[in-house]
Amino acid sequence: PTTVMWFRRDLRLADNPALLAALETARADDSAVVGLYVLDDVLWRRAGANRLAYLRESLRALDEACGGRLVVRRGDPVDVVPRVVREAGAAEVHAAAGYEPYGRRRDDEVAAALDGPGVPLVRTGSPYAVAPGRLFTQSGGAYQVFTPFRRAWLEHGWREPVHRPRQIPWADLPGEDLPHSPEPTARLPRAGEEAARRRWRDFLDDGLADYPAARDRPDLAGTSAMSVHLRWGEIHPRTMLADLATAQSDGAPSEAVATFRSELSWREFHADVLYHRPDARTRSLRAVVPDDAWTRGEQETEWLTAWTEGRTGYPFVDAGMRQLLATGWMHNRVRMVVASFLVKDLHVRWQRGAEHFMAHLVDGDVSQNQLNWQWVAGTGHDAAPYFRIFNPVTQGEKFDPDGEYVRRWVPELREVAGRRVHQPWKLDTPPADYPAPLVDHAHERKVSLDDFQRGR
Ligand code: FAD
Repeated sequence: PTTVMWFRRDLRLADNPALLAALETARADDSAVVGLYVLDDVLWRRAGANRLAYLRESLRALDEACGGRLVVRRGDPVDVVPRVVREAGAAEVHAAAGYEPYGRRRDDEVAAALDGPGVPLVRTGSPYAVAPGRLFTQSGGAYQVFTPFRRAWLEHGWREPVHRPRQIPWADLPGEDLPHSPEPTARLPRAGEEAARRRWRDFLDDGLADYPAARDRPDLAGTSAMSVHLRWGEIHPRTMLADLATAQSDGAPSEAVATFRSELSWREFHADVLYHRPDARTRSLRAVVPDDAWTRGEQETEWLTAWTEGRTGYPFVDAGMRQLLATGWMHNRVRMVVASFLVKDLHVRWQRGAEHFMAHLVDGDVSQNQLNWQWVAGTGHDAAPYFRIFNPVTQGEKFDPDGEYVRRWVPELREVAGRRVHQPWKLDTPPADYPAPLVDHAHERKVSLDDFQRGR
């Protein structure tokens, strides 16, 4: 019999415990491993053109690493996996466990479908250093507050990365050509395990030491840009945590190491929250403003469109929205500001913004996206308080002090020098082709605070 290794969000060979488990079974039987990826129609339809194009490239890289033997099949995994098992005469299917609402349901259904022929779906490892659902508070509940979660997460710790197998006896099984994906709308980063490792090494060498000072500055390349590689599992966070520990013992500043580690723990916190509250994908964990506070009808459509296209008249917001359209990525500081602007200046529900983000982000990840939106909107467990409303002008002046970032993404403002670019309406002659502010921030801020008072 053969053994199936079903790749999902772990498109790599290094530090992949599920792959090692599959290999161990195969070796015991002196047989081959079928490397399988199922293009699930449900996920294929949900992901935007950028994420699909990135996935294609990542699968191509994985296929190359598998000596051209990766078997890609399209369809519903509940049908496809048992079919591949029959074709390959497989005795076991191995995979890393899935934790999102959809992935959990799918895995249970696949396991049930394999139960008939008596083939186990063996789940080993997860896309996280500490699997969601593992940590509990002293009273036995799920964590709702980040800081104690992080403390427990650090205390719990994680295992060492596992080795990358040198020889894998891949089975030969016909696959399908990768289906055409719509043309990506953005310039995408290089995909695959190799690219992820290279990017990470560069960051450790050249970016980590400055990370605490530079991470909030969208005008600088001060962050790791690892989110997309983590999203697809081209690298495991445990590998990164081990490398951080090594960097620290080699003299990297401990503040930088701690700050970066803390960001990784946010990722694990959000995954844990969604695990316990799958409804948080679409529903606010708590209501903070009355239902009549939201913009509706044509006004909503008009404002939402201006926001998605980067035409709100607030340069820092517009630069972020255009960076998203051009690259499939947006700097974290700007994600927070544009999200706050949508919810608290335009009074549009966070779900609408989250949907636009998911359609364009290459790192779009349901737990990270939805819970970060809930954080900004003040509806999450441990969220920013609703009354904390980002001022799009002062945020720009503080985190893009010379206006470099705005000029990079908003060509209409390229001729405006320095920080004055953050308030073009104050110029003697504002650029004719750049829109006037869609709303007055000071006014909308008051509206939001009133809504918040009414909701209490
Ligand atoms: P770095 O600053 O280099 O951080 C290193 C890693 O830490 C990141 O790769 C990421 O895995 C993790 N991290 C950093 N900040 C956060 C955070 N706030 N929450 C969770 N993990 C974090 N991140 C996604 O991966 N997918 C999303 O769909 C997503 N949607 C977001 C939506 C909103 C409204 C906001 C405010 C944030 C969102 N984030 C999302 C979090 C964050 O913006 C990105 O992870 C980060 O910008 C990625 O860039 P980086 O890898 O250079 O970050």
